[in-house]
Amino acid sequence: MPLVVAGAGMAGLAAAARARELGAAVVVHEKGDRAGGSMLLSSGVVWRHRSLAEFHEECPGGDPALQRVVVDGLDEALDWLEGLGPPVLERETGNPRTVGRRFDTRGLTAALVRAAGDVRLGEAFADAHVLATGGFAARLARERDLLLRANRWSEGDGLAYGLARGADLSAGMDEFYGRNLPGPVEEEDFVGASQLYGVHALVLGEDGRPFFDREPSWSETDLVLATARQPGGAAWYVLDARALRQPTRYGTVADLVERARALGGDVRPGEELPFELPPSPKLQEAPFVAVRVRASVTHTIGGLRIDPQARVLDAEGTPIGGLYAAGADAGGIFTGGYGSGLAAAVVFGRIAAETAVEELALLG
Ligand SMILES: Cc1cc2nc3c(=O)[nH]c(=O)nc-3n(C[C@H](O)[C@H](O)[C@H](O)COP(=O)(O)OP(=O)(O)OC[C@H]3O[C@@H](n4cnc5c(N)ncnc54)[C@H](O)[C@@H]3O)c2cc1C
Repeated sequence: MPLVVAGAGMAGLAAAARARELGAAVVVHEKGDRAGGSMLLSSGVVWRHRSLAEFHEECPGGDPALQRVVVDGLDEALDWLEGLGPPVLERETGNPRTVGRRFDTRGLTAALVRAAGDVRLGEAFADAHVLATGGFAARLARERDLLLRANRWSEGDGLAYGLARGADLSAGMDEFYGRNLPGPVEEEDFVGASQLYGVHALVLGEDGRPFFDREPSWSETDLVLATARQPGGAAWYVLDARALRQPTRYGTVADLVERARALGGDVRPGEELPFELPPSPKLQEAPFVAVRVRASVTHTIGGLRIDPQARVLDAEGTPIGGLYAAGADAGGIFTGGYGSGLAAAVVFGRIAAETAVEELALLG
């Protein structure tokens, strides 16, 4: 019987490619009409924190045993990915806290699909050995009335299947990683539309009241989660002239604001806000500009509980025979913070394949 993989995104394709490399017959079921999942839409930066200590400091609620697997396994996984032939666009992340490589995501998807072999599009899985359906971002966004900044098929099907087989849940089921966007945007604008400069803004709710009274983390995930808790998941970023001149990785703040405007966002002079601006050290140099942002969901943080061999665990911590999970279907790695979903997906996708090939052979 072939190894059955659910999902043709980063984790599922990596699992399938690795299992084939180990000599197994593999079938990948993909619900969407294309392969690549959210990986195809991503910036393609596959990265890790520099050390386990830094990873754990950043994601304090995550399971250190799983975090160690990512830190220890990523460099080999990156070489393996590169060996499949996709274009590598950058060999550094541009962030001193992290190391990794940036891949062209079309090229990466094509290379992984080639290596994975039998990928059946438009076919949701019925039964599977390896769950890699990308978590439940689409369902969470719908239920909480947030924007979706991810593939539209990840509804939590792997999670539901795992639960039905007796799986336990990880920590962080109410957490997600996302970005504040100027409004709904097309998939090709998911990266460029991100308003990643909250650190320079006076952040106010739609009622004009501050709701985030500290500096955001460098990833601004904490600010996005706080925005998501506001009515309508919306907020105003108010910027003074000095803030607009600040550089970001994607141009100046003013460039990102212009992108928001071009994409149909609500960008207006500060004096046209429906409330009085409160005095703030962030508002020193007129004129002031306000951008309305809405929280979006990129991927969920909680999921099925796994062990370092990617085996799905029940509430007693016992592996459920013949069931493995990787990528956003496997939770509890990034709880409380932010890390590379692509890295966890490729590392645990490969491990799921290795464990499954070994264990399923033993089971006959
Ligand atoms: C705009 C954007 C930028 C990003 N940038 C980065 C970045 O630079 N670095 C980084 O590390 N991460 C980034 N990410 C996150 C990253 O893409 C995800 O963490 C990663 O793709 C997760 O891998 P996965 O395999 O779990 O899910 P996915 O890659 O999303 O794959 C899941 C697949 O499962 C399929 N599926 C769902 N349900 C079923 C079902 N019932 N049956 C069969 N198939 C099913 C889906 O259609 C999908 O193809 C970004 C994401 C986005 C959207």
